[in-house]
Amino acid sequence: MRYVVCVKQVPETTDVKINPETHTLMREGVAAIINPFDMYAIEEALRLKARTGGTVTVISMGPPQADSALREAIAMGADEGILLSDRAFAGSDTWATSYTLAMAIRKMGDAKVILCGKQASDGDTAQVGPGIAAHLDLPQITYVRKVEDIKENSIVAERMLEDGTEVIESPLPCLLTVVKEINEPRLPSLKGKMASKKAVIATWKASDLNCDPKCIGLEGSPTKVVKVFTPPPRSGGEILKGEPEEIIPSLVAKLKDAVLSAAN
Ligand SMILES: Cc1cc2nc3c(=O)[nH]c(=O)nc-3n(C[C@H](O)[C@H](O)[C@H](O)COP(=O)(O)OP(=O)(O)OC[C@H]3O[C@@H](n4cnc5c(N)ncnc54)[C@H](O)[C@@H]3O)c2cc1C
Repeated sequence: MRYVVCVKQVPETTDVKINPETHTLMREGVAAIINPFDMYAIEEALRLKARTGGTVTVISMGPPQADSALREAIAMGADEGILLSDRAFAGSDTWATSYTLAMAIRKMGDAKVILCGKQASDGDTAQVGPGIAAHLDLPQITYVRKVEDIKENSIVAERMLEDGTEVIESPLPCLLTVVKEINEPRLPSLKGKMASKKAVIATWKASDLNCDPKCIGLEGSPTKVVKVFTPPPRSGGEILKGEPEEIIPSLVAKLKDAVLSAAN
């Protein structure tokens, strides 16, 4: 059974600067790590492989330095890494990112379970996993916190809801997005570290994916970022002092003023 884990390399800090002209992240000089949620996805794929046999492929779309994220996953026990890297992919929004990843997974041909993190710590949209499933027309189970059962052609997983849990059975192939409650990611072993140094990471470009050039990169991205900014800090509130019967009329007047000025 082939497990495919989508791994995004993200800045180590959440204090990332935005380029004011292009509205994209300024990654230069910022240390990069595997998106924390993707560590749980890698771990779960390794555990599922131990249950069913098979292989774990990690895949990332990103600049050449995302190679190190794939090597880290191989050090944890993944069998192989594939990097999708091409200038043509630059500027992709979540639609184009999920399309590109989906085309690469389609090229693999035999992925049974595709695992993603719940969301990325920089983009934070949680759209890419469901987007891949939609592009491949596959079922998906999101926010998975436990895989209860897996067979050759089906999977049963428990997913987290805001007010409880839900147990879903799905045919395979299927895409899962996982939450941090699912497991405790392992540390790389010495043997794994040696293997990761020697591993040959395949690099696939747009021309390797049989993808529509109009669907990738900035050109293929339906989302256009008009402006990115840090909202100003909230100004301090005002505390009204006095007896309730004295301050309520003044409070109501202030609220009316605030509503009217917000509406104008
Ligand atoms: C118009 C536009 C232009 C943009 N241009 C740029 C740009 O130039 N540079 C830039 O860095 N970002 C850019 N972005 C942001 C970029 O689109 C998102 O970071 C990316 O699509 C992933 O979305 P996310 O971070 O919200 O991931 P989420 O949807 O929150 O991630 C969920 C899961 O999907 C998987 N995943 C997500 N991204 C990848 C990936 N790349 N490879 C493998 N698996 C992945 C992981 O498993 C992850 O846990 C742009 C966005 C827009 C809207």
